[in-house]
Amino acid sequence: MTMTARSLEGKAVALELSERARDELAEIRAQHNVTPALAIVRVGDDESSVAYERSISRTGTRAGIVVGAEHLAESATADELAATIERLNRDPAIHGVIVLQPLPAHLSRFAVADVVSPAKDIDGITTYNAGRLFHDDYDVLAPSTPAGGMALLKHYEIPLSGRHAVIVGRSSVVGKPMAMMMLAENCTVTICHSRTSDLATLCKQADILVSAVGRANMIDERFVKPGAVVVDFGVNFVDGKMTGDVDEQAVAPVAAALTPVPGGTGRVTTMVLVRNTIRAARQALDAAQ
Ligand code: NDP
Repeated sequence: MTMTARSLEGKAVALELSERARDELAEIRAQHNVTPALAIVRVGDDESSVAYERSISRTGTRAGIVVGAEHLAESATADELAATIERLNRDPAIHGVIVLQPLPAHLSRFAVADVVSPAKDIDGITTYNAGRLFHDDYDVLAPSTPAGGMALLKHYEIPLSGRHAVIVGRSSVVGKPMAMMMLAENCTVTICHSRTSDLATLCKQADILVSAVGRANMIDERFVKPGAVVVDFGVNFVDGKMTGDVDEQAVAPVAAALTPVPGGTGRVTTMVLVRNTIRAARQALDAAQ
C-alpha cells in the first residue's frame, strides 16, 4: 500500500498565531493605549521584495498592527540606508523594522544588519539577536522563516526530542538558525550544504528533513526515509509557477507529512513578523514603565 503524506498547511498555523496576536494586541491597547507598528525598508524594486512587502503589509494590517514602508532608490548609498534605519530606530512610534532582501549588490546585508536596533529587529538579523538564539533564549526576536517552520512543527505536534533532523542549507537567515532552534528542541541535527558528499544518503537518515536551498524539485524520493516529515522552505519559480525544493509528487508516497509550496512555510513567515512586532512593542513598553 502506498502512503500519501499528510499536507502540513501553513494557513491553520497562521490562523492560530493571528488569534494569539489578537489577544495580545487587545492587552497592549488596554494597558498602554498603543498599537504596535512595523516599518518595512525596501531599497530598489526587486520583484520578490515588492511581493514580500505586499504580503507583510496585508498580513500585518489584517492582524491589527500598523504597517508602514520606506522606499529608497536602487542607487541609495550605504549612508542613506543607515540614516533611514537610524531614524526608525529613534522613532518611539515604530516597534519593528525589517530591511527587505536582496539588497542591491553595492550594499552589504552584513553591514546593514547591525544598524537595526536589536530591540526592533523583528527578523532576527542582528548579531545581538543571533547570539541570543545561540544561547537558547526563547524570548529572542528570531529569524521569521525558521521560527515559522518551528511554529508549524509545533502546531502539528510533530515530535522533535531525540529525533534526527537533517537540514539542507546553511544560510544565516534560514538553515543555520533553524539548526539552532531544532537543537534547542533536543533534535539531533545534521547540517548539509553544497559541498556535502553523498547528500541523498544523509537526507535519507532524517526523521525530519528540512530543505532551504532554492533548487526546484531537488529533493525526491531518493532523499526521503519512509515515514519522514519533510519541511520545504524553498521558493522557486518554474515556468512562472511557484514551487519548493521538494518534488512533491515523488515524495508524497514515501513521507508521512510534508509542507506544500505554496501554502506551507511561507504562509507562516509573515505572521511571525507580526508576532515579533507585537513582542518587540511589549518589551519596549514594559521597559519604559
Ligand atoms: P541561500 O542561497 O543563502 O542558501 C542556500 C543554501 O543551500 C546554501 O547553504 C547552499 O550551500 C545550499 N545549497 C545550494 N545548492 C545546493 C546543493 N546542490 N546541494 C546542497 N545544498 C545546496 O538561500 P536562503 O537560505 O536565503 O534561502 C533558501 C531558500 O528558502 C530559497 O529558495 C529562498 O527563496 C527560500 N526562502 C523562503 C522563505 C520563506 O518564507 N519560506 C524566506 C526566505 C527564503 P553553500 O552554503 O555551500 O553555498
